[in-house]
Amino acid sequence: MNIKDFENKFKNFDGSIYFNYSLKKLNWFNIGGSTKIYFKPNTLQDLIEFLKLCKDEKNFFVIGAGSNVLFKDDIFEGIVIKLSKNFSRISLLNENTIIAGSGALDKSLSEFAAENSLGGFEFLSCIPGTIGGGIRMNSGCFGREFKDILISVQAISRSGEILTSPAKNIIFDYRSCNLPKDLTFLSASFKGNKKKKSKLKKRLKI
Ligand SMILES: Cc1cc2nc3c(=O)[nH]c(=O)nc-3n(C[C@H](O)[C@H](O)[C@H](O)COP(=O)(O)OP(=O)(O)OC[C@H]3O[C@@H](n4cnc5c(N)ncnc54)[C@H](O)[C@@H]3O)c2cc1C
Repeated sequence: MNIKDFENKFKNFDGSIYFNYSLKKLNWFNIGGSTKIYFKPNTLQDLIEFLKLCKDEKNFFVIGAGSNVLFKDDIFEGIVIKLSKNFSRISLLNENTIIAGSGALDKSLSEFAAENSLGGFEFLSCIPGTIGGGIRMNSGCFGREFKDILISVQAISRSGEILTSPAKNIIFDYRSCNLPKDLTFLSASFKGNKKKKSKLKKRLKI
């Protein structure tokens, strides 16, 4: 990939794009070389535009909290995308359903659920990742996994098309799922069970 071509392509683009960006800052273990291009979209519109403009770029990686990735010391000749905090909102859809942006931390979702008297999310407090990473990995602990609470996943394709996949159509396995590798997850909805807030908070020690 030629950085000059890329710079020209994006010179009027209003998003956070960095060139030769250190990967060390992007992962839990602070390791690795750098990425040719790092993009941190602030808005969905930014992300759609960006994906449309570089849909043919082969080396493409979406990162969450970087707690399940190991980067080499080499230069990554491609694009790394990390969703900004604008993709981390968590809200209540109805009394049993939560919708969370893919950039939100698992721990934040467990605390939000407890605050809203919804049980079933406690296991998330032990996983140092984001919702996006948790969906991809079907992360879990204490006998519970993402698949047990997921209702649906909203994602964007490499061509900028937004799609929704009900959890019942996704095949989950141990630390994996069969959603296409080139999707960027945007948000997900989750189901919980009404529980006593004080009990949930006690379990989370908050
Ligand atoms: C100390 C420690 C404890 C851990 N404990 C557990 C545990 O108890 N249970 C467990 O299951 N795991 C555990 N893990 C592993 C890790 O935290 C989980 O796999 C976590 O869900 C990864 O989330 P992440 O946001 O860090 O994803 P990343 O590590 O950034 O990425 C992991 C994968 O998800 C993809 N991805 C991330 N975000 C998106 C997105 N928005 N759209 C599409 N794909 C995306 C990446 O491309 C990559 O393939 C632990 C790790 C550490 C370091």
